[in-house]
Amino acid sequence: MKTLAIIGGGAAGLAAAVEAARESRRRSARMEITVYEASDRVGKSILATGNGRCNLSNSAIDAAVYRNAEFVREAYRALPPEKVRSSFADLGLVMREEAEGRIYPLTNKATSVLDVLRFAIRESGVRESCGTEVVAVTPVEERFLVCFADGGTVFADAVILACGGGPAQSLLPPAYPYAGVLPVLGPLKTDVAPIKGLNNIRVRCEVSLYGRPCESGDKAAGRRKALPSPSLKACEAGEVLFRDYGVSGIAIFDLSRFAEAGDVLSLDLVPETSEDALAADLSLRVERFGSRGAVELLSGMLLAPVARAVCASIGMRADDPVARGRTADLACAVKSFRLEVRGAGDVRQCQVSRGGFEVAPFSPDTMESRLHAGLYVVGEALDIDAPCGGYNLHWAWTSGALAGRAAAGRCAP
Ligand SMILES: Cc1cc2nc3c(=O)[nH]c(=O)nc-3n(C[C@H](O)[C@H](O)[C@H](O)COP(=O)(O)OP(=O)(O)OC[C@H]3O[C@@H](n4cnc5c(N)ncnc54)[C@H](O)[C@@H]3O)c2cc1C
Repeated sequence: MKTLAIIGGGAAGLAAAVEAARESRRRSARMEITVYEASDRVGKSILATGNGRCNLSNSAIDAAVYRNAEFVREAYRALPPEKVRSSFADLGLVMREEAEGRIYPLTNKATSVLDVLRFAIRESGVRESCGTEVVAVTPVEERFLVCFADGGTVFADAVILACGGGPAQSLLPPAYPYAGVLPVLGPLKTDVAPIKGLNNIRVRCEVSLYGRPCESGDKAAGRRKALPSPSLKACEAGEVLFRDYGVSGIAIFDLSRFAEAGDVLSLDLVPETSEDALAADLSLRVERFGSRGAVELLSGMLLAPVARAVCASIGMRADDPVARGRTADLACAVKSFRLEVRGAGDVRQCQVSRGGFEVAPFSPDTMESRLHAGLYVVGEALDIDAPCGGYNLHWAWTSGALAGRAAAGRCAP
């Protein structure tokens, strides 16, 4: 009987197992499928997703938002997003759509997603070998020697490497180029002086990420030059959470995919109002509440600690009344509160790893290696990542299912 070894029982590995079993049934082929999982049980990574709710897909999956978008586009052509979702429905999962197309299980529990996958593989006779860490996969003639951390080995006719985003370079021969992994989709460390006293405060705003310091204007005078658009790397709207080391929140997570130390985040704290309209509004406030200090002048618009930080960013004293001539400066500071990026924040909170096996040696419609037929790499083990919103899990399901189907086809007589 032909054997398929799936290395890693996370999202992509379980999707691969389900699809391989389904395809071998369809072809009436007898095949032994084993999932080798390093931890004590499969699917733990799925349980942690979406704050335990598992944002498993998105109704508007778009290959363009992924790293290595062309490769992903081909894969989604081979297995369209709606087919992945209907496969889950076939397994019994009822899903609902929330804001921005995010798809969750109706139960709001990641366990429901894992349960339907586990029941499907159990009913198909897929073996689970937990507590089994794979350390190397070596092509030997037409087959693969799989080596385990405890010194054991097995031969397999096909191997699907679904080991996730951790360092995995040593698992495959050196012929497979590997981009070093970097945690992304997480908080960012920034200079902390401008956000002193803001820990745990949330603001809804628009955040732009600039690739280099974006102005050289006279800070004391407060007025800054317009931002040069060519250095704009990315822009996101949403909630930002100030932390004592920097910033967090979904908008920041998404920007973290593009951020490097030395970049600048510019927060527009009143995105619905243009800078000119805001300056006019502030002038009116000066007319009406002229005796108020700067922070009080901004009350009703910004939380007091945030207003204090904004005023400090242009050297304006919090308790002093705002001079008529400085309302434009204040409006500018509210519309572009700047923080310099120092690097990734708490890496334990990062949701994906940038990097992994480069996609060039693999076929996007099957995930099969062009160098060694019968070897497949899927999910986050490849150098593919995407923003928050269900895109990363959707990639794991799709790439896993494509590989599972192709591996079963290869093993069929
Ligand atoms: C906190 C958190 C929340 C997230 N929320 C979402 C979300 O809501 N929506 C979304 O789309 N994405 C989310 N993600 C990202 C998503 O979880 C991953 O993109 C996805 O799980 C990747 O699937 P994978 O199968 O490639 O890797 P994983 O799911 O990480 O699975 C890899 C598996 O391989 C095992 N393994 C590793 N090395 C070996 C080895 N050498 N031998 C044997 N087994 C091995 C691991 O133990 C693991 O079980 C989140 C990530 C995190 C960390």
